[in-house]
Amino acid sequence: MAERMIDATAQPNDADVSLRPQRLAEFIGQAQARGNLQVFIDAAKSRREALDHVLFAGPPGLGKTTLAQIVAAELGVGFRMTSGPIIVRAGDLAALLTNLQPRDVLFIDEIHRLSPQVEEILYPAMEDFQLDLMIGEGPSARSVRIDLAPFTLVGATTRAGLLTTPLRDRFGILTRLDFYRVEELETILLRGAGILGFDLAPEGAREIARRSRGTPRVATRLLRRVRDFATVDGAGTVGATLADQALRRLEVDQRGLDRLDRRYLSAIAEHYGGGPVGVETLAAALAEQRDTLEDVVEPYLLQQGLLQRTPRGRMLTRAAWAHLDRRPPPSLEGDLFDA
Ligand code: ADP
Repeated sequence: MAERMIDATAQPNDADVSLRPQRLAEFIGQAQARGNLQVFIDAAKSRREALDHVLFAGPPGLGKTTLAQIVAAELGVGFRMTSGPIIVRAGDLAALLTNLQPRDVLFIDEIHRLSPQVEEILYPAMEDFQLDLMIGEGPSARSVRIDLAPFTLVGATTRAGLLTTPLRDRFGILTRLDFYRVEELETILLRGAGILGFDLAPEGAREIARRSRGTPRVATRLLRRVRDFATVDGAGTVGATLADQALRRLEVDQRGLDRLDRRYLSAIAEHYGGGPVGVETLAAALAEQRDTLEDVVEPYLLQQGLLQRTPRGRMLTRAAWAHLDRRPPPSLEGDLFDA
């Protein structure tokens, strides 16, 4: 896949460690999740127990990894990080688990992509802090039980629906992260600009915030690119006009949609009469991965009311036709109640 300016998945040049909030008090937005986490962390700390296992669900770039690190920092414990597809064999997970210190946080990103064999190992580990391992093969194989230090598993997933029920049921704290509001992104951008020593006016921050797909990772990436334009153009304070010019050059439109978003909407309009069309068909037509469409592209279009999911496939709403500056089909035109 070509590099997308507003792709919310991490890219190697995202060395934005300095912009990542370190503590809960610095974390902007997701007020309800933050408030609840604070209570559960305080309670676990005062009892000197491991925090219950936590699951963060939501689209990429909303702060799941950041929150996992913050949980460890607030608890004052060690943090280890891995990802579902990386843990291939049960032994890989066993090695990670046996190395944990009491109350440590083990973070598993993309936890819906664990293999069934690895998941089996995880159940008793989460529930009873025990590991059941098979040693050897064939008739001489035997099972051994190992006691683990009490630990906290923090899982992150872009697709909570793909988690198996037994795995989901073993998390005590389930937290859904939603897209950020423009004002929240504005605050994040102004804080980021301060850290980067970049002279960004509140109107400039608002312009970038409005066009960041509700996603802090997108906002901070656009912030860096706008700063590049401002540096090269020798601009002083960046206000709304300069921010708008830079964003246009980055092909991010008024609504924060990028080229892939627009290709996606245009394909449904041009080739499928506005839908309904299945996601597999669309993925093939756009030469994109189905996962990219489902995890990255569609959630924001749905949230913005540009797309509808129906049992027969994806459909454009009237707002999408208006955004594309095209006439909707007659079936949508007369419908006053459509979004
Ligand atoms: P996820 O794990 O959900 O894909 P991350 O936790 O990696 O997302 O966050 C992506 C980037 O966005 C981080 O590098 C961080 O700098 C920034 N970020 C996320 N949430 C916030 C927030 N609430 N405030 C400020 N920056 C944030």
